[in-house]
Amino acid sequence: MLSDKVAIVTGASRGIGRLIAIALAGQGAKVVVSARNLEALQELTAEIKSQGGEATAVAGDVAIEDDANNLIKQAVATYGQVNILINNAGITRDGLLLRMKDVDWDAVLDTNLKGAFHCIRAVAKFMSKQRSGRIINISSVVGEMGNSGQANYCASKAGLLGLTKSVARELARRNVTVNAITPGFILTDMTDNMTDKARDAMTEQIPLGRLGDAEDVANAVLFLASDQSAYITGQVLGVNGGMYM
Ligand code: NAP
Repeated sequence: MLSDKVAIVTGASRGIGRLIAIALAGQGAKVVVSARNLEALQELTAEIKSQGGEATAVAGDVAIEDDANNLIKQAVATYGQVNILINNAGITRDGLLLRMKDVDWDAVLDTNLKGAFHCIRAVAKFMSKQRSGRIINISSVVGEMGNSGQANYCASKAGLLGLTKSVARELARRNVTVNAITPGFILTDMTDNMTDKARDAMTEQIPLGRLGDAEDVANAVLFLASDQSAYITGQVLGVNGGMYM
């Protein structure tokens, strides 16, 4: 149970982040949900509250330093502490290298990697003082394997792994653990535009024979956020049906 804990989830307006927020709230955590779409966040907090949980919405863009700082400040102001940060906000702007525009490179790196850096830097101050905390970064299997047409996205997700391990080393003495999850192909809006043919080809590559769902990722988050994972830091947990070992 996470009943005395306060958790922040970025990118919670839909997809994996939404499910992570619901799962954490289901374990009793007070959840601060963030993304750019305030209306979707308010629907989520209403849903969590209707199920007996506690949640607050803070709209913001993680790529903007002030928004990230404000998110952490609002969480502490509302609940007096922050124990768990899930860096889940992410975007894709796919394209082959030779045609990739700077603006698409920058947008992906700014959201997926710099956004996580902004949130970690802001929360580390509070967690260090508390001498406890859990930071979980949602990377991707393609950050480990690479993927044609996704140089920007894979670079951002591989960068998150380096960020995870470095910060894990820096914050370990403060009893703050930092880990990454690398989901495989998970059914959400992000993967929704795949053709049936592409989906079948993808499934062929997955030893467990199916694409993942957001709950598969949320279950891994619950473990890394819990007291059971106290001696685990700087690690990368693959949630990919075996597609990368
Ligand atoms: P999704 O359905 O597209 O949701 C992305 C979330 O991120 C939304 O809530 C979006 O909300 C938020 N977001 C995007 N840009 C943001 C920004 N600048 N500031 C704050 N929030 C922002 O994607 P998903 O499939 O759930 O993916 C969630 C995470 O898992 C991402 O980091 C993704 O890279 C990773 N992942 C996904 C898969 C997959 O197969 N789906 C596989 C591996 C890893 P707003 O638009 O309201 O801001």
